[in-house]
Amino acid sequence: MRAMQIIEWGKPLEARDYPDPVPQGEEVVLRVEAAGVCHSDVHIWDGHFDLGDGRKISLESRGVDLPFTMGHEIAGEVVALGPQASGVALGDKVVAYPWIGCGECDVCKRGEELLCMNPRTLGTRKAGGYATHVVVPHAKYLLPHDGVPQDLAATYTCSGITALSALKKTAEHVGPDDYLMIIGAGGVGGSAIHIAQAVVKGKVIVADIDPQKRAQARQMGAVLTIDNSEPDAVKQVMKATNGGAAASIDFVGAPKTMEFGVNSLRKGGKLVMVGLYGGSQPISTVLFPFKMMTIEGSYVGTLEDLRELLALGKEGKVPPIPLEHRAPDQASAALSDLKSGGKVRGRVVLRHQH
Ligand SMILES: [Zn+2]
Ligand SMILES: [Zn+2]
Repeated sequence: MRAMQIIEWGKPLEARDYPDPVPQGEEVVLRVEAAGVCHSDVHIWDGHFDLGDGRKISLESRGVDLPFTMGHEIAGEVVALGPQASGVALGDKVVAYPWIGCGECDVCKRGEELLCMNPRTLGTRKAGGYATHVVVPHAKYLLPHDGVPQDLAATYTCSGITALSALKKTAEHVGPDDYLMIIGAGGVGGSAIHIAQAVVKGKVIVADIDPQKRAQARQMGAVLTIDNSEPDAVKQVMKATNGGAAASIDFVGAPKTMEFGVNSLRKGGKLVMVGLYGGSQPISTVLFPFKMMTIEGSYVGTLEDLRELLALGKEGKVPPIPLEHRAPDQASAALSDLKSGGKVRGRVVLRHQH
């Protein structure tokens, strides 16, 4: 097998050859056919996330050793089964749910493997899909995607369920006449505009500083777009929504977008924080009681979310996001383009020719 690996944090990935993996126990080996390049890969590649005020969280401190193979949006074909593996067959075309926990603790048993203290996530802790092959610990993390094109299905495993899971957290706050604001209409925010039509009752408004993304958002069904870099952006939201958004989702996660999200909520509103841009933002303590405001964090999604999204996709309820194909050896270039921002419309998917 061949993998495009991080050899040194932040430096171009290098191709390395290894013997093909032999699955043990319940493991399943996929031949990777499509691997999405996610914006969070840029942070993993750098080796750290920014906590603000000069503080960082390093991947090394989380037990990620180099060389490492990223890639957590994986679709491919089952090519080898461990002696105890069951539930899939050789030749099955599947997507891999990457947010895998230990499988044995209480949260894992509740189906919230995301909260597991001993994660085995593909492409962020264990070797991922920037490779010809990937080892998945159990067949239960593999789902068929018939009715959804393979590349699109791959992007569902991170960007898609990240959008769906955040939207579901706002559903109770947003009635048919209420406004849901999506802050940041990039890859995941863009997916959210599409998926919102299937899972949220209210009207969608989109805030983005990029005029092109705002124009796209209007085409995708946003009833209103706001340039949140304008000094009176909060006032514009208040006026257009008659007192503020019932809920907002911040897909950027910068101090300024969070501040904008908080200030443009109506009383009783909810802000869901998703983006990993990084930094820190002081919030007045009295705003919580005065506005009866909720702020909730949302990270990727559950295996059940992935199942739901694949079903919505199959039923044609979620319009496809724009995808751009590149060869696997172009992974570093794709990461650089994502890092510098703006050069990528939609999602980049690395396609393997086997
Ligand atoms: Zn991702
Ligand atoms: Zn666990």
